[in-house]
Amino acid sequence: MIAEGEVRRLIRAALEARERSYSPYSHYRVGAALLTGEGKLYTGCNIENAAFTPTVCAERVALFKAVSEGERQFAAIAVTGSPAGEMTRYSWPCGVCRQALREFCDPEGFWVIVAKSETEYGIRTLAVLLPESFGPEELAGTEQQRVTDEEKRR
Ligand SMILES: [Zn+2]
Repeated sequence: MIAEGEVRRLIRAALEARERSYSPYSHYRVGAALLTGEGKLYTGCNIENAAFTPTVCAERVALFKAVSEGERQFAAIAVTGSPAGEMTRYSWPCGVCRQALREFCDPEGFWVIVAKSETEYGIRTLAVLLPESFGPEELAGTEQQRVTDEEKRR
């Protein structure tokens, strides 16, 4: 389980990241804060695009920032999303983000926190949000898995 203080730290960082959301079309503002195995934080916000398909969720922005900096081990992510203004709802990660996280996170040990505030939040393991999932180990023994294992050791 993740410590209460760590949860609050993540939620604070996600709320701060939400301030940087670029969402001129949906006005749905999302921030995310991803915690590495070593306690480092990477944040992200949703970034929309006039052509729509290039739009990226806050969770994937945080994950890709971290992975591009060499991080491979993650403990938890906090997500704060709501229409512009006050936080009125919980924003669970979309299916694409759940799968993206699955690539690097142990489904049973990785925590997903959705929050309206530091004291109002929901928390689930990735395994609950993405049951019977497909991950890198499905390709065990293949050339792809050998490459993946080497990537993860870096
Ligand atoms: Zn998403």
